[in-house]
Amino acid sequence: MSKQRWIIKVGSALLTDSGKGIDQKLIAQWAEQIINLRANNIDVILVSSGAIVEGMNRLGWKEKPKDIHQLQAAAAVGQMGLIQSYELLFSKHDVHTAQILLTRDNLTNEDRYENISATLDNLLLHGVVPIVNENDTVSTSEIKFGDNDTLAALVANLVDADRLIILTDQQGLFDSDPRHNDKAKMIHSIHVSDDKLTKFASKSGGILGSGGMYTKVIAAKQASESDTTTHIVSGREQDVLSRILNGEHVGTLINC
Ligand code: GLU
Repeated sequence: MSKQRWIIKVGSALLTDSGKGIDQKLIAQWAEQIINLRANNIDVILVSSGAIVEGMNRLGWKEKPKDIHQLQAAAAVGQMGLIQSYELLFSKHDVHTAQILLTRDNLTNEDRYENISATLDNLLLHGVVPIVNENDTVSTSEIKFGDNDTLAALVANLVDADRLIILTDQQGLFDSDPRHNDKAKMIHSIHVSDDKLTKFASKSGGILGSGGMYTKVIAAKQASESDTTTHIVSGREQDVLSRILNGEHVGTLINC
């Protein structure tokens, strides 16, 4: 049986327990499940946000700055915390992690695209879990991915992923914003070309996240270009990755 590739994207609010600090317990749970995925012939690439929020924590900043250079400074500090946590929690399973920081122009330049793709292939071949984030230090408005949902979808295209799992602090995609409408119903399954998909998605990402459901839906459309199926699920849901592996229906499935 040929190996599958799954991209697992982790959002800032989820990873940092809404800004309180990196949630090592959650990372430990995902690490255990990722080890289980790998035992089932699935290679995993993590795309992790959280650098800016963790940097703000470490620097004692209470409010997210608007100035791009302050955000870049916070990201540079916080990226250390992210990588330390992932490396520590995967090392308990004798698995190495690797840091990959990307900008949009890295993926539009053919030579660089080839280099990134070859590096990721080699890391997976050697049993390493790549941890991807945007290279916030060099990203300005023109070369930004804009959000890590888009970055995760482009990585899915790059490595021809089978699945893109977007772990978030919401249960899934709803027919209206559940933060404002308590009658909102969760969408269990929808085709990527269904017109209703973008209508369901709110653009507001909350205080800490950047994209809300809108960028997740756009990411699902982008991912479908490489025939990648997208799941939008709560990262706090017990055994979420193992349950998806077992074919259980969790969160929202966006088919292609
Ligand atoms: N690269 C940013 C960070 O790690 C996150 C961007 C996003 O959440 O979409 O803080």
